[in-house]
Amino acid sequence: MSQFIKHDYIEDVLEQGKNTSLEEIKEILKKARTLKGLTHLEISKLIQNDTPEANAELFRIAGEIKQEIYGNRVVIFAPLYVSNYCVNACTYCGYGRDNEFHRKKLNDKEIQDEVKLLESMGHKRLALEVGEDPVNCDIDYVCHAIDTIYKTENKNGNIRRINVNIAATTVENYKKLKARDIGTYILFQETYHKPSYLEAHPKSLKGDYDYHLTAFDRAMEAKIDDVGGGVLFGLADYKFELMALMLHNDHLEDKWGVGFHTISVPRLQKAVGMELDQFPNIVTDEEFKRIVAIIRLSVPFTGIILSTRESAEMRKEVLNYGVSQVSAGSCTGVGGYKEEAEFGKKVDQFEVADHRTPLEIIKELLRDGFIPSYCTACYRSGRTGDRFMRLAKSGQIHNVCQPNALMTLQEFAIDYGDDELKTLVENVINKEVVTIGKENIRNLTETNLEKIKNGERDLYV
Ligand code: SAM
Repeated sequence: MSQFIKHDYIEDVLEQGKNTSLEEIKEILKKARTLKGLTHLEISKLIQNDTPEANAELFRIAGEIKQEIYGNRVVIFAPLYVSNYCVNACTYCGYGRDNEFHRKKLNDKEIQDEVKLLESMGHKRLALEVGEDPVNCDIDYVCHAIDTIYKTENKNGNIRRINVNIAATTVENYKKLKARDIGTYILFQETYHKPSYLEAHPKSLKGDYDYHLTAFDRAMEAKIDDVGGGVLFGLADYKFELMALMLHNDHLEDKWGVGFHTISVPRLQKAVGMELDQFPNIVTDEEFKRIVAIIRLSVPFTGIILSTRESAEMRKEVLNYGVSQVSAGSCTGVGGYKEEAEFGKKVDQFEVADHRTPLEIIKELLRDGFIPSYCTACYRSGRTGDRFMRLAKSGQIHNVCQPNALMTLQEFAIDYGDDELKTLVENVINKEVVTIGKENIRNLTETNLEKIKNGERDLYV
């Protein structure tokens, strides 16, 4: 079944990539800079040649590509955990069925409470997360939760995009999700390395490697055309995982005409019931930076998502090498936002490293020259799947993303910002107008400002 992740082929191409000269690496980077993508062997050569000189060039080119395609924009989102029931015994996860703690799923009122707290932080885009339990958390519960989230409004509007991260399921269930107007369907392969996959998912529903691997094919069959992949880095050799990710992307492009909309790069964190030293493939900080940069070069138009698993320092650094979306103010426990607001932090699916509030994160991003974006326009304008990719590859995407980022940032500043944030936002808009000379941005943002002041919300092009 999983013909497209051929282990022998991956190992072979990784072997061939060894011992490449710095000159050749520079040639490959030059090709990557043209945004045309790379062959498997070229990617392997980048993966295998980990010298300070090669890395310096790799990071520089990844930074240039990031800047050319995404500019300074960084999309902001938050996860929302609604159920921690789980029938699996994944060796790495705090929700594993053998970990004893009070299991729960949120009822409508509890979902509304969480969503209102997220909205009061300014969030517009959520990633919905659940454990896998076909009885206690079936697809109808998930669909109902999505409806409840979309309907929960505060005075400044509502959640505008829900990306969904639920376990691999059937075409029928994906059709139900599609009918809920979801954004991206996200599923991490955890590891592409089959022996490691089987070891990490003992006696689990999730333990069927082929079924998990082909989930996006079923999602595509159900007409979900925005899918987001990822690897839980630390379960197997990261070099193997990177090559396999690219093969999976190629498979989706060949079969469905569009590859990953996003790739997530979670790194294994300490969780209840496991210790990190049980895992021999933990990825170092330097390797992690290379992973982000190599993905950026290999699939320049695919968004890269980073969570608060990473520290503020690491987040800041890899934003320069390719990350395009970050979560902010995250809780990874069910009902966690309310619990945190009332009692402080509690037991979660895994530990997070960046505990700053969204407002603190937004201010720092602005001070570092980034433009935080709450934009959710693409999928609401039908710019998904191959339509999104065509726009991205033509370079036209800037014309919508840049004004939308600035408009949603203005909206955030007016609704949730303090004086310091408002000044930072004003400065960034003035700078955009002067440095890029884009009069249309001034017109749009000024008109928009007036509209927002008059109570209008959710403006985008
Ligand atoms: N139940 C769904 C599934 O099976 O795909 C959603 C999974 S869970 C809510 C989201 C992700 O958290 C997992 O796919 C896994 O990659 C990640 N995760 C689990 N344990 C982790 C840990 N200890 N450190 C970092 N990430 C972890």
